Amino acid sequence: MTTETIEFQAEARQLLRLMIHSIYSNKDVFLRELISNASDALDKVRLAAYQDKDLDADASDLHVELVPDAEGRTLTIRDNGIGMTRDEVVELIGTIAKSGTADLLARLKEAGDSEHAQELIGQFGIGFYSSFMVADRVELTTRKAGTGEGVHWTSDGEGSYTIEPVADAPQGTAVTLHLKASDAEDQMHDYADRTVLRRIVKTYSDFITWPIRMPAEAPAEDAAEAGDTIEDAAENSADDTAAQAAAPETLNSMKALWARPQKDVTEEEYAEFYRHVSHDWQEPLETIRLAAEGTFEYQALLFLPQIAPMDLYMRDARRGVQLYVRRVFIMDDCEALVPEYLRFVKGVVDAADLSLNVSREILQQDRQISAIRRRLVRKVLSTIGTMRDEQPEKYTTFWEQFGRALKEGLLSDPDNRETILGVSAFRSTHDSEGAETTSLAAYTERMREGQDAIYYMTGDSPAAIEASPHMEAFRDKGYEVLLLTDPVDEVWVDAVEGFDGTPFRSIAKGQVDLQTDEEKEQAEERKTEFAGLCEWMAGVLGDDVKEVRLSSRLTTSPAVLVGDEFDMTPTLEKMYRAMGQ
Ligand code: ADP
Ligand code: MG
Repeated sequence: MTTETIEFQAEARQLLRLMIHSIYSNKDVFLRELISNASDALDKVRLAAYQDKDLDADASDLHVELVPDAEGRTLTIRDNGIGMTRDEVVELIGTIAKSGTADLLARLKEAGDSEHAQELIGQFGIGFYSSFMVADRVELTTRKAGTGEGVHWTSDGEGSYTIEPVADAPQGTAVTLHLKASDAEDQMHDYADRTVLRRIVKTYSDFITWPIRMPAEAPAEDAAEAGDTIEDAAENSADDTAAQAAAPETLNSMKALWARPQKDVTEEEYAEFYRHVSHDWQEPLETIRLAAEGTFEYQALLFLPQIAPMDLYMRDARRGVQLYVRRVFIMDDCEALVPEYLRFVKGVVDAADLSLNVSREILQQDRQISAIRRRLVRKVLSTIGTMRDEQPEKYTTFWEQFGRALKEGLLSDPDNRETILGVSAFRSTHDSEGAETTSLAAYTERMREGQDAIYYMTGDSPAAIEASPHMEAFRDKGYEVLLLTDPVDEVWVDAVEGFDGTPFRSIAKGQVDLQTDEEKEQAEERKTEFAGLCEWMAGVLGDDVKEVRLSSRLTTSPAVLVGDEFDMTPTLEKMYRAMGQ
């Protein structure tokens, strides 16, 4: 047998160092992370066995097992799930593939040991590495379902790990934690203590749909066996299932939260479930439930997070909704269920009448799925609207984190354009005591008599727009202007016709008519008066400009550059140039 020693990837090393020095104060959550991984692995093996009848996998009696050893000072978390091959262990456990890792590490460095650092870690989600908060050495033995040989991995988290083949590992994964001595002194956090484990499972993992078992305490005459190595313990439990089956205690209630009556589920239970599906460490900002009965029966439990994941605006950002069919996990990131602009929504949809064999391709065309998707989109949008009306602070948090993504829907989801505009927020020149933004409904209510358009200007920042000469006439005459500064704003304003019948109009493009009849007459006169000057200037500027016009927009500036109605704005031009077009 060859034992290899392999270095952790640099980023992984840095994160591990943080775990070892445990900047996260609630160490109990390591168990939630390991159980969550075990549960995912059980979901996967059940599905794999169903979809591939030739796969040599055992999908009977799937469960998680916690084996504390008070004398040996270890805790083993075992599952008989999908397991990992050697290469998967190296890839999944030895490196961190999550996008945003480099960014996170840079910010952590800045944050030092502060509470802010904890928050950042919480946002990122540490998963398996959280084991090193409570263990000074971690062993992992795993065998991928359908393969013959297993792998044993071990590390103290200090830079490298060793990995070697094992001949006789049971299907699935066993993680053994050699517990830090310091935690044993604290009775509440002695992770080899059964009472402590019962409490943690109840608190964090009760809803896990697989049984989480703990073998009964070994009778006195078996005490000698307590010192067995973990591999032996794992083997025993595989060999003597019958003998053990009588003994174990199941620690969780296993009830799928989305199938329980809403009134019976506590906020805390929702929060823990959210953490499980989202891999986030925070509480959700908002919980959304919906269900339908009849021909298309389904239940959905969805969440809006508090904080945008770091990869929200990266190309391969994951969409967060899982698909189940009658309680059976089918897939993560089900893109057929949520449009891309709602990629921040997390949760579960459980559909009753789909085949367990559905593929992503089939789902894209499934009528039932598109019906669910339409309803889900409407429900999310109406929840955002209600949040704005009833909990403005929550809404503000939401908007700051996800507004930019939501506005992408103005382009990609024309059917819901009006609704999205309705729940969107905009900065404007209107000074509304403390409120940073306005809704379009509030804007149109404030519109001046005779005003026939929603005025806006796009630019890099509110300050830059406010300083622009285009603003002068509008400010002077008391017209409110929306200050649009997100890159996506440049694009949707051209595609969207208007809001509630009122068109959008850029104050920096084309002719803007703010004049009374009398003013118009005067302007005509002036135009003839200055025709000569304009002609001369046009000659001097040559091909650099299309036309020189006498302006009615300026009050103090002598001149301004104006785009044609269908021209690109300077910001958009910059954007395209940056993209190399
Ligand atoms: P995450 O669960 O957010 O992906 P983790 O650090 O918890 O991150 O786990 C990393 C990966 O390692 C998982 O995505 C999974 O592929 C694999 N893994 C971890 N634990 C197990 C397990 N018990 N069985 C099978 N695979 C596992
Ligand atoms: Mg995990």
